[in-house]
Amino acid sequence: MLDIKITKTETPLEKPEKGAALGFGKIFTDHMFIMEYNRTEGWHDARIVPFGRLSMHPAATVFHYGSEIFEGLKAYRRPDGGVQMFRPLENIRRMNNSAERIRLPQIDEDLGLKILETFVKVEEDWVPSEPGTSLYLRPFLFGNDESLGVHSINNAMFVLIASPVGSYYAEGINPVKIMIEADDVRAVRGGTGYAKCGGNYAASNRAGENAEKLGFSQVLWLDGVERKYIEEVGAMNVMFRFGDEIATPMLTGSILPGITRKSCIELLRSEGWTVNERLISIDELEEALKNGTLTEAWGCGTAAVVSPIGQLFYKGEGFTVGNGGIGEVTQKLYDTLTSIQWGKAEDPFGWTYKI
Ligand SMILES: *Cc1c(COP(=O)(O)O)cnc(C)c1O
Repeated sequence: MLDIKITKTETPLEKPEKGAALGFGKIFTDHMFIMEYNRTEGWHDARIVPFGRLSMHPAATVFHYGSEIFEGLKAYRRPDGGVQMFRPLENIRRMNNSAERIRLPQIDEDLGLKILETFVKVEEDWVPSEPGTSLYLRPFLFGNDESLGVHSINNAMFVLIASPVGSYYAEGINPVKIMIEADDVRAVRGGTGYAKCGGNYAASNRAGENAEKLGFSQVLWLDGVERKYIEEVGAMNVMFRFGDEIATPMLTGSILPGITRKSCIELLRSEGWTVNERLISIDELEEALKNGTLTEAWGCGTAAVVSPIGQLFYKGEGFTVGNGGIGEVTQKLYDTLTSIQWGKAEDPFGWTYKI
């Protein structure tokens, strides 16, 4: 396996003060991991170096043709002072699936884990300890051929950066207002919806900006072909409680297979809930909102963990979900998942990875 050369910074930054507002992805740690790829050598030159700018050729593939994928996971400070990650192998596997779609080189799973573990060890002091805080890890991989011809990728770069992040819910869990997007679509079957790639976000920008202007926090996407089936919310998957059933859109290829989604499904099933991965039409949702059978809705993703949806708007009409507050299943999911992630509760699923 590749060796990782470590060059420590000689000018370490001051860590944020205890209690400081960290926000999301604004502060970066002292180092970054870089590794390069070409067709003859494969991955090589794996190194941890002081955090800084990347020097790139202006013709690099990623600038012109959008060959970029990324991941997002967190390292958490345990009550005993140790540090752990949550299901990191799932992120490496998903990154390889994304790479396969975009035709970027894949990374051996063991090497991926070694990179994450070595890097988090170097930056261990940057893992914050206040409630709800964590060290967000952002691996990304992009095509780096220095020519404008459109062809398969011969050169690529993998980079990992990290950012201490605050509690998503500094003022307690607030239900969000979501707009169901009827015009723009994010992804189509056969496209790149299931890949975690920058291009999907570029396609989302216009609707996201519109929604923001109108006072909504995120967009709920419909499928790209019929604009009939619910897909996901912004950077989160979505779940609904219809009476005794929990339902979430099935992975049709245009939805990102979230690790939080998967964990919620496994957790809820272990507690005896009926969880169905199926098609959920906008008509079904509208009907259930009107007759009150939709009692809870929430988004799930690494950043927020679980985010209750208080109101949904569709074609100018607004609906309140349940009583507009946080539902009982949503709250319990949040409590259980976060306790496991921060090492405050037993982990019967083997999801945590101690550093
Ligand atoms: C990353 C992401 C999610 C959530 O995935 P997690 O693995 O749970 O963090 C959902 N949707 C999109 C579009 C994403 O990029």
